[in-house]
This record gives sequence, structure tokens and C-alpha cells, in this order.
Amino acid sequence: MKNIYLDNAATTPLRPEVIQTMMDVLQNDFGNPSSTHSFGRSAKSIIETSRKTIAKYLNCSAQEIIFTSSATEATNWILREMVKNNGIKKIITSKIEHHATLYTVLNLQKEFGIEVEYIKVLPNGNLDLFDFERKLNEEIPTLVTLMHVNNEIGTQLNIDTVSSICQKYKAIFHCDTVQSIGKVAIDLQKMPLDFLVASAHKFHGPKGIGFTFIRKNQSMQPMFYGGEQEKGLRAGTEAVHQIAGLAKAFELANEYMTEETKSISDLKSYCISELQSNFEGIIINGENTFYNILNVLLPFSEEKTALILFNLDMKGIAVSRGSACQSGSVKPSHVLAEFLSSDDIKKPSLRISFSHYNTKEEIDLLIESLKTI
Ligand code: PLP
Repeated sequence: MKNIYLDNAATTPLRPEVIQTMMDVLQNDFGNPSSTHSFGRSAKSIIETSRKTIAKYLNCSAQEIIFTSSATEATNWILREMVKNNGIKKIITSKIEHHATLYTVLNLQKEFGIEVEYIKVLPNGNLDLFDFERKLNEEIPTLVTLMHVNNEIGTQLNIDTVSSICQKYKAIFHCDTVQSIGKVAIDLQKMPLDFLVASAHKFHGPKGIGFTFIRKNQSMQPMFYGGEQEKGLRAGTEAVHQIAGLAKAFELANEYMTEETKSISDLKSYCISELQSNFEGIIINGENTFYNILNVLLPFSEEKTALILFNLDMKGIAVSRGSACQSGSVKPSHVLAEFLSSDDIKKPSLRISFSHYNTKEEIDLLIESLKTI
């Protein structure tokens, strides 16, 4: 049985070149980057070269990049830091953000009593930017935290518009670019956002490593104390092999971006047309969605909801759940719950997410398997 991986919004397989880079570092560069001898200097130089590689593709300065263990860590740190030490009194976000953002915001609200406002979600899964602007007020120090591409449905935020609205009202803008970075060009000289978070395992790099961009004018207190690593902001001996793997994955993602965008977009279009011709009444959840994420509401009965993922898994096909499990033991998706009707939310939705490793044959097998359910 051939395994088919169509869950690339959850995580991605590593590129062979990334594995090779990491193996080389593990074998040859075990020095502690804080040591001043040649072993240490060599490890340190891998970190700084990696930082420069990332900065080059994002068109920012290397000093503006800080390595973290994950995007979740970076988001927790930045939001807390802005509220605790930088006078933020209000956060504007949306209910369709990743839990890394939502739960952090809820905790900050509880702990510091800040005001939190959620932007209206339109019936097509996009945010109402008029509602967003109405929520801003120059008099209240405000942070806006919104994701670029939604990880469940793939809807996209217009970063340029949001950045300029934030500038108009002097609000800080933190953007979760986990699903988009490495898949679409980001030029930080043109996009005046203040913070960005990223995670290597979403662009064919290793897990447990990510980075954050912190614009030069933002002042940050350390996330951890106890060492001078990462400009003293994140103490702890660096995971040199992870950082090297992240930079290699980012470099390759950017170098192959044009051709991979095209092949993945073609694959998504093919999948949509095959689904539409085989399952009458299928609905795509979300409008104007990103090229590698497809979330569909299947015209199956509610009773089949629980069976679908199980049956696909038995056939070696990995996709992701889009909505409630029939048993009631799994909560409905907090994203779909924001814009689907109470009837539709009970029906089976699937998230199918693609990478350049997927093929049309794999889509055909997915369709064949769905037909047997
Ligand atoms: N934000 C989004 C949009 C994500 O999809 C994810 C991962 O699922 C995260 C944040 C969390 O990233 P990490 O795995 O680096 O903590």
C-alpha cells in the first residue's frame, strides 16, 4: 500500500538537502557556539550565516531575526512582552486565529485586564476589514495580531492593507505567517509589519525550530534569562543543526518558489475539479484561499463524519479533519464554527493540503477512496 500524505498544513516532509545539511552539522560542528575556540567559532558562524540567509530573502537586517523553538513560543513571547512591558492596553484579533494566538490573548486578558476585540468573520471565511478599522482608536495603545494564511481553510489576509491601517492608527502589527512564509515572497521593506513568526516544519524543514522578525525600533525584554544567546533575548545553547536545517529549507523554498507554486496550484485545481465532478453538492469552505490548502464540505450524511478519516487512514491516506466528529468526543473546528451554519458544521469537512511532493495519481486515489465511503 502506498502512503499518501495530503496534510502539509500540519507539517511537511523534510527535503533531502535539509537532512544532509543537518547531518553534516551534527557530525562536524558539535562545538558550543558560545565557546571562543575554533569549534565554537565554527558553530557560531553557521548560526550567523543562517540568520543572514533568512534576512536576505525577507529583505530585512540579520539583527532583526531571532531563532525560537517554534512559532507558538515566539507568539507567546511577543504578545506578552507588548502587554507587560510596552504599554499595550488593547488587542485586536479574530476568532479564526491559531490557538497559539487565541489562548495567549485570552490569558493576557485574564492576567492584565486588557481589552480584546475580535474582527467580524464574513460568511466566506475572510475578515471584515471595515469592521477592523472601526475597532481601532489612536488614543488606546493597541496591538493587532492576525494570521497571513489561515491554517484550516487557507483564507488570506491582505497584509499590505492591514499594515497601512495599523500605521494610520499607530497600532503594532504582529503577523503569524506560519502557513505562508516560504510559499509566497515576503518583502519586509514593503510590508511595514512589526513582528512576524515562522516555523521551519511548515516549509520542509525540521520541527522544534522557528524564527521571529522583530523590527529594529521595537524594544523587547528577554524571553529567558541565563545567557547571551540571541542578543541575550533567548538564553540557552542554540540548536545549531536545527538552525542550519531551517536556513537550508528556507533557501530552497525561496529558490523553487515560482515552479512549486505553479505545480501545487495546478494540483489543487485538479483536486477541486475531480471532487466537483464526483461529488455533487460539494462546497469549498472559504473564498480566495491559498494555493496549497483546500477545505471542503462533503455532501455525505452526518453519520459518515466519523468514518471518513478512519477509512482514509486505513488506506494510507493522511488528510485532516475539518469539522466535528460524530461521536461528539471531538470539538468542532473553531474556525469553521465562525462562519458555517449550525447544520453544516455537523457535516463532514476535510482539509486537504498539498506540497510539491504530491501527484495527480495521489489525488485520483483520494477520490477513489472517498467514493467507497
Ligand atoms: N500558527 C499557525 C497558523 C500554524 O499553522 C501553526 C502550526 O500548526 C502554528 C502557528 C504553531 O507553529 P509551531 O508548530 O511552530 O508552534
